[in-house]
Amino acid sequence: MLEVCDLRAGYGRMEVLHGVSVSAVSGRPTVVMGANGVGKTTLCRAITGLIPLRSGAILLDGEDISRCDPAERVRRGVALVPEGRQVFPEMTVRENLRLGAYVHGEPTAAQFDDVAELFPILAERQGQMAGLLSGGEQQMLALARALMARPRVLLLDEPSQGLAPKAVAQVGQAVTRIASRGVAVLLVEQNLTLAEMIARHAVVLESGAVAAEGPADELLSSGAVEASYLGH
Ligand code: ATP
Repeated sequence: MLEVCDLRAGYGRMEVLHGVSVSAVSGRPTVVMGANGVGKTTLCRAITGLIPLRSGAILLDGEDISRCDPAERVRRGVALVPEGRQVFPEMTVRENLRLGAYVHGEPTAAQFDDVAELFPILAERQGQMAGLLSGGEQQMLALARALMARPRVLLLDEPSQGLAPKAVAQVGQAVTRIASRGVAVLLVEQNLTLAEMIARHAVVLESGAVAAEGPADELLSSGAVEASYLGH
């Protein structure tokens, strides 16, 4: 379980997140929604250690990881599927997967088999350059690469971005299967369809703070999300 407690973070003199608390629990995938620029990516960066915390804490199964470097956080079980996927286009699918496991050393054959079972398309294309995959397939690869790190917590930064509705649905199905294996999922999204597919709990960010939270089925249909996008 991941708990983000009263997190403050930002860039230079600008503070973006002014005391945000969210959690991701196994069996209760959580979505963080909010308008462009509200700080969703900043939240992912702070959790993964790419930017420092100004105050607050990040707890993984009760242990404070906020002073660990990014590689140590991955080793302890926090994996990120970054915004824009960021697969290595000139490496093969298999090499991309292999890199996902690097914090634990060389991946086992069983790990590749596991990913192949979840994402058959990646097994078929394993010798192909990742840059030749479609956007949806690259998103699958980004997800599979994160899984190679054997995460306990999976952070997903806007995985629907730039994808056709059919690919968004495939991402939703894949994440739901991953969550059903006990991985705690924290999804950061603007896409309501994907949020509704995946999340059991929802958090709405506004002006760098939590404006609303509750069961996803209630909150996502309540109009609170649309209101926050429209700024009222
Ligand atoms: P989007 O949905 O557009 O990706 P977001 O909710 O993820 O937005 P962030 O990317 O976290 O928002 O940005 C929050 C604020 O921080 C914005 O005002 C943005 O301009 C600023 N910001 C983001 N990255 C940096 C950076 N590296 N240096 C300085 N300011 C930044």
